[in-house]
Amino acid sequence: MLLQITTTEAPTSDLSFLLHKHPDKVQTFDMSLGKAHVYYPEYNENKITVALLLDIDAVDMVRGSKNSANESFSLAQYVNDRPYVASSFMSVAIASVFSSALNGKCKNNPELVMKQLPFEVTISTLPAPKGGESLIRSLFEPLGYTIDIQRHTLNPLFPEWGESKYYSVKLSNKLTLKDLLSHLYVLIPTLDNDKHYYVNKDELNKLLEKGEGWLKHHPGKEQITKRYLSNIHWLSKQALLRLAEAEDTENSDDEIEEKTEISQRKATLHEKRIALVTEKLLESKAKKVIDLGCGEGKLLRQLLKHQQFTSIAGMDVSYSELLKAKERLYYDNLSPKQKERLILFQGSLLYLDERCKGFDAAAIVEVIEHLDVYRLKAFERVVFEFSQPRTVIITTPNSEYNVMWETLQHGTMRHSDHRFEWTRKEFQDWAERIAATYHYRVEFHPIGDVEETVGAPSQMALFTYGN
Ligand code: SAH
Repeated sequence: MLLQITTTEAPTSDLSFLLHKHPDKVQTFDMSLGKAHVYYPEYNENKITVALLLDIDAVDMVRGSKNSANESFSLAQYVNDRPYVASSFMSVAIASVFSSALNGKCKNNPELVMKQLPFEVTISTLPAPKGGESLIRSLFEPLGYTIDIQRHTLNPLFPEWGESKYYSVKLSNKLTLKDLLSHLYVLIPTLDNDKHYYVNKDELNKLLEKGEGWLKHHPGKEQITKRYLSNIHWLSKQALLRLAEAEDTENSDDEIEEKTEISQRKATLHEKRIALVTEKLLESKAKKVIDLGCGEGKLLRQLLKHQQFTSIAGMDVSYSELLKAKERLYYDNLSPKQKERLILFQGSLLYLDERCKGFDAAAIVEVIEHLDVYRLKAFERVVFEFSQPRTVIITTPNSEYNVMWETLQHGTMRHSDHRFEWTRKEFQDWAERIAATYHYRVEFHPIGDVEETVGAPSQMALFTYGN
């Protein structure tokens, strides 16, 4: 089994420094199940290729009883694909032979570790069970790799036997060597259904350690985690929880560290906004509440804390936002009773939808400005005429306040997806017309600190049914 890593970035000797392996030598390392050889098939000033060749001893594997290949077929213990495919053995080899590079250490030239190099990686044989090529792509492409995949036929002499589950893969990307090795370390065994080791909590820690900085942002993180941990349910569940926690801390750290004035103020502003909406919903005595355009579920998270809300729904047009909400609310880990209390569904505020009916209150927080103005008519009918909850809370930015954001250029809006932003008067005129049309009373509240001339950064209209 052969893994080759090539770069053309000068000076090409950088790669050998990073790997701590001399380009003129062939080095051999003893591994528990065979040998790992490292050598450079090509090294000149324009190009350098390092090869990691694994020489797995199938007999040793059986003696050590570590073979997880099909034990019911005795010959299969000796004759199997293990010596030839990139599998969990490859990760073990990367971790022991390239440990400094994998851990981002380079004693003589530490700044090299941060250097992004254009890499081309060839993996001679990669087994991809169910999902095949698309599985390989879904693992590597989100990390920026371009991939060239070739599938092997079972036997070129007998094409009628069909395709095998083996692929040759060439990956290209510009990134640090540390990142490249950590991707390979995690993703090669992710594809491997016959891991040679016993999967336990150590594997979970290794996954999180080597996945640090990229796994939590990977759209396939759930699949990677499950496959890497051999679908052991409690382990993958723990790993996913820990990934979600890491993301939360990271986000709050980000919020604190955000340099720009607008983001700093926005973070706390959104918390204030969610707090005020929750307070008004509690005061309304509503029991069944729906958050329309719930996004990643920040309001839902607060609502869940209050027993008054016996039924809580989150609706959004975006499936990916709903997935985020599901994850951030730890939906899969909620007790059956809590699960009964919370429902998330995909839908649009612009279409009549039976599922939006029957709630005491609806919150629509920082959503209307994302709708095209000409669609607001449909929106108001869906909410006030068709769904008709007793309480409706709508929040939207106050455009007058935009002059206060020093970093916001004059005349621009706060978010690239905003279709409009209203002054206090524009919002109030619109809301008062709606109240009059659909038999609601409406009152207004500022959100955030009020400035004398321009008001507060955000504004709320609180509608109550009945004149
Ligand atoms: N209410 C959330 C998210 C606000 S961002 C919060 O305050 O944190 C605006 C949200 O509105 C996005 O999640 C977007 O997907 C959603 N959205 C936009 N158009 C929508 C529509 N037509 N129907 C439902 N949701 C919509």
